[in-house]
Parts: sequence; C-alpha cells; structure tokens
Amino acid sequence: MKSKIILELKKIVGENYVSVEESVLIRHSKDKSFHAPQLPDVVVFPKTTEEISKIVKLANANDIPVTPWGAGSSLMGNSIPVKKGISLSTVLMNQVLEVMENSFQVRLQPGVVCDDLNEFLESYKLFFPAFPGSSNMATIGGVIANNAGGMYAVKYGVVGNWVMELQVVLADGKITKIGSRSIKSVSGYNLLNLFVGSSGTLGIITEAVLKLLPLPQTKMAVLTSFKNLNDVGNAIMEILAQDIKPAALEHMDLDYVKLVNEAQTEFKLKEQDTILIELHGTEKTLDFQMKLLKRICEKNNASVYKEFRTPEECNRLWACRKGIRLAFYKMSPNMGILSAEAGVPLSFIPQFIKKAKELQTKFNIPILNHGHVGDGNFHAWALYSLDDPKSLKRAEMVNEYLTRFAISVGGTATGEHGIGLGKKQFLKLEHPTSLPIMKNIKKLLDPKGILNPGKIFFD
Ligand SMILES: Cc1cc2nc3c(=O)[nH]c(=O)nc-3n(C[C@H](O)[C@H](O)[C@H](O)COP(=O)(O)OP(=O)(O)OC[C@H]3O[C@@H](n4cnc5c(N)ncnc54)[C@H](O)[C@@H]3O)c2cc1C
Repeated sequence: MKSKIILELKKIVGENYVSVEESVLIRHSKDKSFHAPQLPDVVVFPKTTEEISKIVKLANANDIPVTPWGAGSSLMGNSIPVKKGISLSTVLMNQVLEVMENSFQVRLQPGVVCDDLNEFLESYKLFFPAFPGSSNMATIGGVIANNAGGMYAVKYGVVGNWVMELQVVLADGKITKIGSRSIKSVSGYNLLNLFVGSSGTLGIITEAVLKLLPLPQTKMAVLTSFKNLNDVGNAIMEILAQDIKPAALEHMDLDYVKLVNEAQTEFKLKEQDTILIELHGTEKTLDFQMKLLKRICEKNNASVYKEFRTPEECNRLWACRKGIRLAFYKMSPNMGILSAEAGVPLSFIPQFIKKAKELQTKFNIPILNHGHVGDGNFHAWALYSLDDPKSLKRAEMVNEYLTRFAISVGGTATGEHGIGLGKKQFLKLEHPTSLPIMKNIKKLLDPKGILNPGKIFFD
C-alpha cells in the first residue's frame, strides 16, 4: 500500500490509530478457523461513524479492500483480510449509547463485547438472549454481520431476530439508516435482513438498535445421558414435541464428552451421549416442565438424569462446557479443528447425528459431535494433524459429506458460522436460482468489490 494512503488514513483517524506494526498486522491476519492467515497492509482503529465513512470513501476511490474486524472470533475465515488492504477494527467503538427501557431496546456501537452488554443490562433487569458461545469475546458488529446463533436459539432465535435498526456505512462512504424501531414494519423491502449475516461484504455497521427481553424469573437445567444413540434421537424429538420450549437443548456425543472430562474437573460426566437442557420461566411452570422432561428421559432409557434448580447451579453446569475449543488447543497443540457445521430440518436430527458418527470410520478421522440440536444446528469437529496435510483433506471430506447431506434434506450449508471462505463451494448447490440475485445485490451495493473481498462468492 502506498505511503500516501497511510498518511491520508492518519489524517482521518489520527496518527495513533493507524498501525503497520508487525504484531498488530499478525493479530488481524487470522480468525479462529483453520483457514490460512493473511496480513493486512494496515490496521485502522476509527472512533466514529464519520471516520469510517471517510476511510471507506478513500478506499473506494483507490480500489483498496476494507475488511471489518470485530474480535476475529469467526470460524469460517470471515474476518481474514484475504486480499490485504485495510483491516478496520471497531474495538474503540464500544459504547452503549442509549437504553430505551420502556421499549425494551438498546442503541449501541458495534465494538461492544456481547457479555459486556448483558452485564450492563443486568441493572435494568433486561437481557439480550441470542448471543453465541463466544459471547465473552465476540462483538455486536461481528455477531450481527455473521448473524450468529447460540445455545438459546431454540427458544429465542438468532441474533438477526433481535435487530431493529442499523446505521451502515456503504461502499461509497455514504451513511445510511436501515430498519425501524417499531416491532412491526412492512415499509418497503426488508433491507435489514440483507445486511444481517452479510459478513461485512455490503456495508460496515456503525450503530445498532437491538430488541431486549426482561430477565427470566428463574432458570432450571437438566443433564441427561444415554447409552444408545436411537434413545438420544427419540428423547430429543419427544422434548421438542411437548409444550416445553427449552431455552437450550444441546447434544454432546461420547467423544465430545470425553474431551469435556479432560478439559475440566468441575463435572465428571458419564462417557455417553449427553443432552443439556435449560428452561426459562417462572418456578411453577418450570416445575411442571421438569416433571415432563424427567418422564421423557426415563421413558427413553436415560442412564443419568440430574437436575439443576437455580440460576447459579445452571451457570455451574454450563461452565463445564465453555472454553472447550480453547482447552482443546492447549491440550493438543499439534491438532486442528475443522468445524463441519450445518443445519437440518428438525425431523432429520437423529439421522444427522448417526451420519456424523459413521463418518468417523468412513474417513478414519476423529470426529467430536456436538450441537445446538434443539434448532437442528450441528458442529462435527473433524480433528486433523497440523503436520499432516492428508488428515486436513480427510477433515474437509467430512465437511463436504455432512454439508451435502444437510442441503439434500432441505437444510443449509451453515446455520451460524457463515459461508466465509470455507463453504463457498456449496452456495450454488443450496441456492441454484437465487445465487445470481445475491451477486447482483453485491454488485449494486459495492460495484468495485472493496468490502471484505474474497468471501461468500468465488471471484
Ligand atoms: C469458542 C468459540 C465459540 C463460538 N460459538 C459460536 C456460537 O455458539 N454461535 C455462533 O454463531 N458462532 C460462534 N462462534 C463464532 C464467532 O464467535 C461468531 O461468528 C461471531 O459472530 C464473530 O464475532 P466477532 O466480533 O469476533 O467478529 P469477527 O470475527 O471479527 O467478524 C465477523 C464478520 O463480521 C464482519 N464484521 C465485523 N464487524 C463488523 C461491522 N461492524 N460491520 C460489518 N461487518 C463487520 C467481519 O468482516 C467478518 O466478516 C464461536 C467462536 C469461538 C472461537
């Protein structure tokens, strides 16, 4: 990148907010996926929407790629600046701007970390229910741009379901407002859902208004294990068919449970397929739902059935599963995880679990299955050796096989991580007739292709 551009960037944001230091470039070259890193030419740290507008205008005029950066916790290469250029970090735009208590809404900047928002909202007795498992690091801009989901998606949906309004800087630097703060709106096309999940390829989110919920009165949870895979599938389907509406319904297979046992000492889980269920509501309704759950699990031959009846106990339970990915990397520094993530219609849940298991033998590779099964979203961790490119190839075949299966039954190539770099090859298969429309929208909004180039589509 020409030094003239760096000088221009410094004029826009100030000398101290532009970096070409090697350590900073390295930090912004890689997300948490298996995709190869790429150093950007420069990292900028804007503080306002106006600064972002000027940066993007400059980049557009000079054909310079701009890749937005929240926390870099993506799992599909989404925030890697594959075409170099500018990595635009929102880390300094981390303010909650307004809590509209009576409308159950909050207006905030994109760099706010998800957990910080919920901590901030506690004093209002409000919360945002749809954050991902990475909520301790992921940012508001990142979770909106990826339309992240989390363990509570089964009851509350994904991040996009809670976005009311966005302020976005477009590829030509124009600042635009999308959406409204009314719960219902049919005012023109729904552009909000175009920008949600677009991974920074259509515009840069500089402000958001999100819907909130009152904190649930109480929480209860259940941990239950099964010896037989058919019993797990049947129990999940029966729970979903009852009037229970769990907030979370998570599955971990035997091999994932073994990893959980190695990674922490708080809980010693029985090494069998295990389901974690969390319920939100009043004590009275939850008491009734817990009885129903017990009946279903016993009927399906659960070998373990453990109840957690206070929010504190529930938090203890989930703590056993949090941080497993990072714990794995610490325990196995020579191994990588290819997270083959996909979504299927609910009726295919048992079949997907079985298919993912079979692939372990078919491709001779360790696979650790877990997922937000309550909404049909799975993560099959295909493990590969960093020293053996052939094992990465086998992991990619697992990804290919499971993704094709998901699409063939009416599901999707990705329920939450996004197309990014690793699922581009499935876009045409999943959307044969609407892919050209998507490409035209990209061309219309970003004719020079400067915004997060190299993602979602092949060049
Ligand atoms: C341990 C772990 C657990 C995870 N669990 C989940 C999970 O349960 N569910 C889930 O969905 N994901 C999960 N993820 C993946 C990841 O955390 C999410 O995809 C998250 O949305 C990324 O947020 P981020 O702030 O790190 O964004 P980044 O990775 O920095 O960026 C994400 C994408 O958004 C773009 N972007 C960032 N900020 C903006 C902005 N202001 N405007 C426009 N575009 C922007 C980037 O260019 C990129 O394309 C997990 C990751 C890890 C490491």
